[in-house]
Amino acid sequence: EAKRAGMKTAALLWPVTAKANIDYHMPEIFANRPWLNQITVSLLNGSFFYQLDMNRRFGHIRKGLSQPELDDFVLESAVHTIHAKRPNLMLIHFTDLDTQRHLHGFSSSEAHAALIRHDKRLGRIIDALTTTGVYENTTLIALGDHSALDESKAIKINGLLKEHGLLHINERGKVDAWKAYCKSCDGSAYIYLQDDNDLLTKDAILSLLQELLDHKENGIENIMTGKEAAKRGADPHAAFMLEARQGFYFHESWEGNFIDEITETDVIEKRYTHAAHGYSPEKEDYTTVFIASGKGIRKKQIIPTMHLADEGPTLAKLLGIHLGETDGKVIDIIFKR
Ligand SMILES: [Zn+2]
Repeated sequence: EAKRAGMKTAALLWPVTAKANIDYHMPEIFANRPWLNQITVSLLNGSFFYQLDMNRRFGHIRKGLSQPELDDFVLESAVHTIHAKRPNLMLIHFTDLDTQRHLHGFSSSEAHAALIRHDKRLGRIIDALTTTGVYENTTLIALGDHSALDESKAIKINGLLKEHGLLHINERGKVDAWKAYCKSCDGSAYIYLQDDNDLLTKDAILSLLQELLDHKENGIENIMTGKEAAKRGADPHAAFMLEARQGFYFHESWEGNFIDEITETDVIEKRYTHAAHGYSPEKEDYTTVFIASGKGIRKKQIIPTMHLADEGPTLAKLLGIHLGETDGKVIDIIFKR
C-alpha cells in the first residue's frame, strides 16, 4: 500500500516478504534445499542489485546466520540505506535477542547483552536519521512479534505415536509411513492425520492425549480440536492442537524418553534450546512490546492492551494509507490530536 501511494520502501530481513514488491529488499528467507545457498536464495527473492551491493559493502561482518554478527550486518545495511536511499517506510528485523534467549534463557546475561546491543543499534539508526536531516519528520517504532518462556523439558509426541504404531521409522531413521505426525511450534504443537477421515486413529490419539493431560508431569496444558484451533486463527487442517505447560516445549524427535530433561550439552549440541515461543498468547508473562516515538505520536501515552494484528493498520494510519479489511484495528490513542 505504501508503494502504491508512491512511497519508497525498504525491508531488511522482515519476515514473510519473499518476492514482495519492495524497492530495497533483503528478505528473511532461509535456504531449505541442500543445493541452494543462503545468499542465492535471498538474492532471488529480494532486490538483486541492492543485496549484491549490501553484501559487497558489509558481507564481511556476517558469519552465516550467527548472532550478533547477522544483526550487525543488517544494521550497517540499514544505516547505509537510510543515507543512500532515504526510504519513506523502512522495516528492519533484528533477531539477536531472540537468538540469545533461545540459547541462554529469557533473563540470561547474554539476553541482557543483546538488549544493550539493540539499544546501541537504535542509537546508530537515530544518528543516521539525524545526519540525513529527516529525524524530525520520522516516526520510530520498536515492536516485537513474540516473547519467550524458559523451558527445562522437551515433550516428544512423535515417540508416543511411533510406540502406538501410528508412525513408522525405517532403518535409515526416516519416516516411511505414518497415520499421524506431530508438528512442533515449540510452545504448542499440531497433530496431523494422514487421512482426515481416519476416525479410528483420531479417537485413539484423543484417548492417548486425554491420559497425558491428566498427569501434570507430561507437560500438556490443553488439547484443542482442529476446529477449535482454527477459530483462534491456527491451522484448520490439524486434527488436534496441544499447548505445553510452562517449563515444557514440544520437540519433533521420536527417539528416547517421552520427556527429556534439557541439559547444557543438549543446547550446545543444538538438540534443544533453553527458551522458546509459540505458546498461546494467553500464557502468563508472555507479552511483547510496541513502542512508538516521534512525528505524530503523543508523548507518554500508555497502550493498555493491543494485539499483534493491530500493528499493521496502526502503522498504515501513520503513513496515511489504509490496509482495507484487516483482523486488527488502529490503536488511535497513540496519535497526536
Ligand atoms: Zn525465536
